[in-house]
Amino acid sequence: MDKKVVVGVDLGGTTTKLAFVTEEGTILHKWEIATDTSGAGKNILPNIAQSIEERAVTHNITKKQVSSIGIGVPGPVDFESGVVEHCINIGWGKTHVRAYLEERMGVSVFVDNDANIASLGELWKGAGAGTKDLVCMTLGTGIGGGVIVDGKIVHGAKGAGGEIGHVTVIRKGGYVCNCGKTGCLETIASATGIARTAVAYIEKDARESVLKDIDREKKLTAKDVFDAYKQGDALATDIVDEIADHLGAAVANIGNMLNPEKIVIGGGVSAAGDALLQPVTRYFEEYAFSTVRTSTKLALATLGNDAGVVGGAYLAKTYGN
Ligand SMILES: [Zn+2]
Repeated sequence: MDKKVVVGVDLGGTTTKLAFVTEEGTILHKWEIATDTSGAGKNILPNIAQSIEERAVTHNITKKQVSSIGIGVPGPVDFESGVVEHCINIGWGKTHVRAYLEERMGVSVFVDNDANIASLGELWKGAGAGTKDLVCMTLGTGIGGGVIVDGKIVHGAKGAGGEIGHVTVIRKGGYVCNCGKTGCLETIASATGIARTAVAYIEKDARESVLKDIDREKKLTAKDVFDAYKQGDALATDIVDEIADHLGAAVANIGNMLNPEKIVIGGGVSAAGDALLQPVTRYFEEYAFSTVRTSTKLALATLGNDAGVVGGAYLAKTYGN
């Protein structure tokens, strides 16, 4: 085989996902390696390079076939230089990701934020396929976001474009966010935020609920809340309603600003499916400007864990040629 291949890399705090992808977006082979954060993350890039080289050999992919590499990292990146200033959860201080990998691998390398590459994945092969104006949000431990306008990621002045998790939904109060400010969407609608909102309801609300039967030793999860909601539990219904209200308002405001063709919701929390999408859509329709309400569609992400590697490959394909 001698067709060109791009490599997508999704660098995460515990595992790094990698894939060889055709320029048409078909995954030829995907795999994972552990992210070694020891020693301020000094082994991370050498391990990625070595792993790509080894897998290329076992899958009969020659060095000449690999045209470029696209990698997503869990923190802010300067897209032009491929330099990460710091990335706390993998131990990095200032790291020249692009320069290191280009030198080591001998191909062009493109680096972006992990939420941005996941958004590009959904744009290319997922729920946003066929669109050019797309906003994605990933509801996981935190909330990531990516804004794509006319097929391109919006990075903003300093690489912080699309930080949807830090849209302020509660003014003058609310929980303190990991970013240091209060009232961020992430404090309410991430998996962690949903669990915390549920615990607050359980403590202040006297009604019976299946959520109160969950062993306190075992931490309450966002999935528990949506499972109880699906069973018609009244307390869970109120919790989901509050979360959907905030999410719906954030999504509507993004829609009012950008009028994208689609706003795609992904991440672990989106596994709740229609139990999440329907109430969020109801509030979105309430808060959206009329033209936005009828022309911006809400959808669930479809690529799951592959969004990052597919988006990394898209980055490589788009900028590498
Ligand atoms: Zn925040």
